[in-house]
Amino acid sequence: MVRNVLQATDPRGEAILRRKSSKVRRFDEALERMVGDMVETMQASHGVGLAGPQVGALKRVIVAQLPSEKEEDEQDGPPQPRPVLALCNPEIHWQSEERELGEEGCLSLAGWYGQVPRAHAVKVRYQDLKGRRRKIHAEGFLARILQHEVDHLQGTLFTDRVEDLTTLVRLTQEGEEPISLEEVPAGSRDS
Ligand code: ZN
Repeated sequence: MVRNVLQATDPRGEAILRRKSSKVRRFDEALERMVGDMVETMQASHGVGLAGPQVGALKRVIVAQLPSEKEEDEQDGPPQPRPVLALCNPEIHWQSEERELGEEGCLSLAGWYGQVPRAHAVKVRYQDLKGRRRKIHAEGFLARILQHEVDHLQGTLFTDRVEDLTTLVRLTQEGEEPISLEEVPAGSRDS
């Protein structure tokens, strides 16, 4: 079932998005249903990642899926869908010193984009839907997605990580327009 994605620009949405999520302890059918809903919601919204709090579930669960890639040697073939990742209790236990700036958006800040510095590579420990302990090493765009989604579990939004707020824009039908500082959800920005 596609769920409603909470918006950080809405006070009720922001109140939930700013909370810390709790650990998943039960690996049962209810968890599978919730993750199934999260995957459907992410795909229906053409997103590349989604975290529990974004659909109002304050649980440490994230899903991610890179955009599908056209196989070079398979002319006119359908785009190959990338695997869906579902991570429970994810924990970034290593990150590269190398950082890079890249554009990010968020399904909870619809239409907003900004330049966010992130580690180029991360290692993440997590549990799968059966509770089995697993690890993933991600680089580049996937590493960026995982860092963004794990942030959601702490109540952190990508706008908290934008260092140069002049890079923050809203996409409209007319094009890009800057976002004024008063509109940016205040929050856990480290001072
Ligand atoms: Zn997000």
